[in-house]
Amino acid sequence: MSPSFDATSNEPKPLSDTLGRGLVDLRISVTDRCNFRCQYCMPKEVFGPDFAFLPHEDLLTFEEITRLASVFARAGVKKLRVTGGEPLLRRDLEQLIAMLAGIEGIEDIALTTNGSLLTPKRAKQLKDAGLHRVTVSLDSLRDEVFMAMNDVRFPVSKVLSAINAAQLAGLSPVKINMVVKRGVNDEDVIEMAKHFRGTGHIIRFIEYMDVGNSNGWRMNDVVSASEILEKIHQRWPLHAIAPRRPGEVATRYLYDDGQGEIGVIASVTRAFCGSCTRARLSPEGQLFTCLFSGHGHDFRERLRRGESDEQLYDFITGIWRSRNDRYSELRTEATGRRKKVEMSHIGG
Ligand code: SAM
Ligand code: SF4
Ligand code: SF4
Repeated sequence: MSPSFDATSNEPKPLSDTLGRGLVDLRISVTDRCNFRCQYCMPKEVFGPDFAFLPHEDLLTFEEITRLASVFARAGVKKLRVTGGEPLLRRDLEQLIAMLAGIEGIEDIALTTNGSLLTPKRAKQLKDAGLHRVTVSLDSLRDEVFMAMNDVRFPVSKVLSAINAAQLAGLSPVKINMVVKRGVNDEDVIEMAKHFRGTGHIIRFIEYMDVGNSNGWRMNDVVSASEILEKIHQRWPLHAIAPRRPGEVATRYLYDDGQGEIGVIASVTRAFCGSCTRARLSPEGQLFTCLFSGHGHDFRERLRRGESDEQLYDFITGIWRSRNDRYSELRTEATGRRKKVEMSHIGG
């Protein structure tokens, strides 16, 4: 490896991009497939029976993912998040978690899932393999609303069971992701807050984003974090608290009455590009330096033609040093129409 050195101190210079942001988090999407068709992510009209998902041989193997993750760890990555598509569709995911858990320098491994396959047994296997935490997505507590949103008639009760399973397995605190879309589930914010208050779970309200080019995003469909917070604050007063660490995507709040924590992820109305330390690896080994990128950098080809760790390290650091992404700070309805990678391909 060839880290650059600070001429005055002889210490390796921490890797940083053109806007001074380090590389701390790696999100690994392990599949582009999903058993849900959430309308804001994989609308059926686009992801129908004829959609060409990646063939299995195009996916990075667990060995390839682990090798890359270990080179990323040497470049500064400390946190991994396994995502998708639906990551639990990938067979033997526990094995991958165990392999990732063995990488020196990795301090935290999390998983984002729709919960549909997170049984008590699977949750325990994941925990035993070295997974620290899970985020489970749930957009409403009302079956008619949730089923319309996931568009495969998946019931709320099974996701609630998955959240329980995660907690019992010690994958806690469990985070719950709720994407709020105007006219679809904005009426459900209070019920969701009420349900998870006092449980130790942390619900995060996410502004609906213009990821990819499939969901027909319009600014009018976005419910702002301020609006969400105001609604909750009127019922149960809240106060803001400091981020757990720099670069955290959610802004954190505590209920004044001690009933726990919530978060908002305000990518649209309060862009947080300035502290974005996240890189994203797609299932077929493309590295994306922004959730809204139009293209990635191919690592699979380099892995399969036998590049050394040193060469991969140099490729990673070269990409990072020239990174200048700040899509959310520049967003307009027009940027929304640019070609962008799909959320279901690259993960949240
Ligand atoms: N399938 C898993 C799940 O749903 O948790 C993991 C992948 S999913 C792409 C990751 C997260 O992205 C989910 O919490 C999902 O709700 C969120 N998401 C998907 N499309 C979104 C959009 N257009 N705006 C905001 N969040 C979105
Ligand atoms: Fe699947 Fe997650 Fe996208 Fe819903 S949000 S379609 S569960 S990948
Ligand atoms: Fe990071 Fe891109 Fe999101 Fe900005 S828009 S926070 S650079 S992923």
